[in-house]
Amino acid sequence: MSDPKSLAYQLSYWEWDTFFRDVDIVVAGSGIVGLSAALRARELAPHSRIIVLERGTLPIGASTRNAGFACFGSVSELLDDMASHPEDAVWALVERRWKGLQRLRQRIGDTRLRYASWGGYELFRAEEQETFEQCAEAIPAFNRQLKEMLGINEAYRLANEQINSFGFRGVANLICNTAEGQLHAGEMMLALMGLAREAGIEMYNGISVQSLEDDGAGVNIRSGYGWSIRSRRVIVATNGLAQQLMPSVAVRPARNQVLITEPIPGLPVKGTFHYDRGYYYFRNVDGRLLLGGGRNLDLEGETTSEFGTTPLIRSALVKLLKDLILPSQPVTVSQWWSGIMGVGGRKSPVIAPISDNIVVAVRLGGMGVAIGMLVGEEGAELLLG
Ligand SMILES: Cc1cc2nc3c(=O)[nH]c(=O)nc-3n(C[C@H](O)[C@H](O)[C@H](O)COP(=O)(O)OP(=O)(O)OC[C@H]3O[C@@H](n4cnc5c(N)ncnc54)[C@H](O)[C@@H]3O)c2cc1C
Repeated sequence: MSDPKSLAYQLSYWEWDTFFRDVDIVVAGSGIVGLSAALRARELAPHSRIIVLERGTLPIGASTRNAGFACFGSVSELLDDMASHPEDAVWALVERRWKGLQRLRQRIGDTRLRYASWGGYELFRAEEQETFEQCAEAIPAFNRQLKEMLGINEAYRLANEQINSFGFRGVANLICNTAEGQLHAGEMMLALMGLAREAGIEMYNGISVQSLEDDGAGVNIRSGYGWSIRSRRVIVATNGLAQQLMPSVAVRPARNQVLITEPIPGLPVKGTFHYDRGYYYFRNVDGRLLLGGGRNLDLEGETTSEFGTTPLIRSALVKLLKDLILPSQPVTVSQWWSGIMGVGGRKSPVIAPISDNIVVAVRLGGMGVAIGMLVGEEGAELLLG
C-alpha cells in the first residue's frame, strides 16, 4: 500500500476553489454527533457553507457499529452510577437520554429507524442474588422518579415469568424496562446522511483531520494527505479518537466486539438484554441474535482505537451465546465486527470550547444512540450561539 503522502497529492486549484473555498463550518467526524451538529448548524446559520470531513469511506467509529439499543438505563446501571456520581446527576443523564431518543425519533421517524418497543431486560444469575435484591428494592422509587420526571408509567417491573419463554439457562431473575426500545443503527445513519444532504451540507469521506490551528480569524485544518484547508469555525465530533487531535480532552477509546448469528428459526429472544452489569448486551434483529461486550475481560487491551476482535473475547461471547442465551438450539455466528466508543472518568459527554473557533462534542460512552442528537445540537449551539 502506498502512503498517500508519498503520492505528493496536493489539492488542485479547481478542487480548492470548488470544494473547500469560503468554508464557514467544518465538522470533523460524521457519526451521529457530527451529523446532528451539522444539521443544527444549518438551522442556526442558514446561509453558511458547512462541510463534514470523515476519515472513513463510511462513518467508521461507533454510530454504524453499535447494538441499536434505545435505552436510558437499567436498574443496576443506575444504582452503579449512583455509587460514583451524585443522584441528581444520574437522573439528569437519564432525562437527557430519554429526550435525546425522542429527538432522534422525531427527526427520523420510527418507521425509518425500524424502531420497536419490545422492552429491555436485565438478567441476573443465581450468584447475583444480592445485586438482584438491591435492584428489586429500588424499583418502586425509580418508577416514581421516572413518572414524575418523564411521565413514564411503571417503567421497571419484575419479569421472572418470562425467563422460560426466552429459553435462557442459568438465569434466576429478570427485570424488564417496559420503556426501552431498539432500532436499526444503519438506517439511522443513512437517514441522518440524507437529511444532511437535503440541508445542503457537504460530506467528504476519506479525509482524516490531522491537526487544527486556530489563529483567531479562523482555523487551519491539515488533512491526512498533508494539504490544508481553512474554515471560519470547527466542531470536533471524533469521539473515541478525539485525543489524537486534542490531547487535552479527557476521552479515551474503548473498543467493543460484536457478533451476529445466522437467522435462527423460531428465535425466542425478543427485546434488548443487559447482562453482567451491562458488560454484555444482546438483542434480536431480523431473526438473528446480536451479542456484544466482554470488554471487562481485557480492559487494557480494549483501550484501543484499532478495529479487530480477539480470541479471548470471541470465545467468551460464543460461550455466553451457547450456554446461557440459546442453550437448546444449534447456532452459527455469521459475522464479527468491532466499534470504538469514547469513554472517560465521568459518565458524561464533553461539550466544550477548545479555542475561540473550535468546539468539541465527544465522549458518549455506550449512550450515544440515546444522547447523540442532543450532544451534536448542543455542540453547534455552543459554537454559533
Ligand atoms: C459495539 C458498540 C455497541 C454500542 N451500543 C450502543 C447502544 O446499543 N445504544 C447506545 O445508545 N449506544 C451504543 N453505543 C455507543 C454509541 O454507538 C456511540 O456513543 C455513538 O455512536 C457515538 O457517536 P459519535 O458521533 O460521537 O461517534 P462516532 O460514531 O464514533 O463518530 C466519530 C466519527 O469520527 C470519525 N473520525 C475519527 N477521527 C477522525 C479524524 N481525525 N478526521 C475525520 N474523521 C474522524 C470516525 O471515523 C467516526 O465516523 C455502542 C458503541 C459500540 C462501539
